[in-house]
Amino acid sequence: MLPPGSTIGILGGGQLGRMLAVAAAQLGYKVHIYAPDAESVAAEVTAHHSQAAWDDEPRLAAFAAACDAVTFEFENVPVDTVRFLSGHVAVHPGALGLEIAQDRLAEKNFVAGLGGRTAPFAAAPNNDELTLALARIGAPSILKTVRMGYDGKGQARLATPADADAAWETIGRHAAILEGFVAFAHEFSVILVRGIDGEVRYWDSTANVHEGGILATASLPPPQIVAEQQDEARAMMKEIADALDYVGVLTGEFFATEDGPVFNEMAPRVHNSGHWTIEGAVTSQFENHIRAIAGLPLGSTATRQLPVTMRNLIGADIGLIPALLADENCHVHHYSKTEVREGRKLGHATWAGASPA
Ligand code: AMP
Repeated sequence: MLPPGSTIGILGGGQLGRMLAVAAAQLGYKVHIYAPDAESVAAEVTAHHSQAAWDDEPRLAAFAAACDAVTFEFENVPVDTVRFLSGHVAVHPGALGLEIAQDRLAEKNFVAGLGGRTAPFAAAPNNDELTLALARIGAPSILKTVRMGYDGKGQARLATPADADAAWETIGRHAAILEGFVAFAHEFSVILVRGIDGEVRYWDSTANVHEGGILATASLPPPQIVAEQQDEARAMMKEIADALDYVGVLTGEFFATEDGPVFNEMAPRVHNSGHWTIEGAVTSQFENHIRAIAGLPLGSTATRQLPVTMRNLIGADIGLIPALLADENCHVHHYSKTEVREGRKLGHATWAGASPA
């Protein structure tokens, strides 16, 4: 168990790091943010900050020496950075889950190998192989870059096989995976925390609504089909977490379908669809992640009171804050980002045990 006063290092300086840092502070830990970006909304709330490149080994070694444990809030941290740090300090979760989550093909193969249900998929490393993949998967389907896709970026839909060339251009001719289009009733996520001793706890699965490929809302109680499929999806995520000997919060995104839950992707970190847990659960995803990596007992993941709604404040939505502050049941989170850009997550609002006014 890390004693209070220890320093937890976080790779990445965004809002997830900011909310992790606040949770760590509550438990008596100091936080050191490591990120290459000039702006770090996480470092604004922490004692220590290293602004340095992911491959700057002298700076990484100094960071490791200054930390008692290290974690990450950003899933595109280079795996080599995590491997290098692991030689100097305990890093949770480890490099393996990160490596798998960074590669959509490796991720689908890994989950299918564990017996999990995924969309039909085939590798499309180049345009010729896309033709072969299309012969197997058919249309409608979705072409996704294997690496660096997020919030619906790096994706193109194929309504018919004739769309293949245009889709290949849209994703920038990168190595890709072709997935059969899943007819789903709802999207939901499973967020779990796994402790150093292997204990696993789950938060309730929210129904997630995306707009323009970006999460818009997460809410409880979910529709019946999500509630019915939550246990099977949890079992799939537990298999994954156990196989990785994972420590910390792990998220799986699923489609609820007539055939049962279909695994879409995982994030080896706290997740946007779990922001509601700050006010809506006994212990938030951020606090339990810190507890897990610090070797502390895990806290209850129970939902305090229904209903719960979390709404992202994206781009110009940030202007809604004065009105949200006037709603006495609304908890407002402003990430303190200076640049307002379309599609950028700038904050979120949560109603716990109450509905939006
Ligand atoms: P992803 O980046 O994989 O999370 O995809 C972004 C969004 O695209 C998902 O949240 C779904 O709404 C949609 N999507 C992704 N893959 C599929 C699929 N195989 N079938 C249907 N919709 C999908």
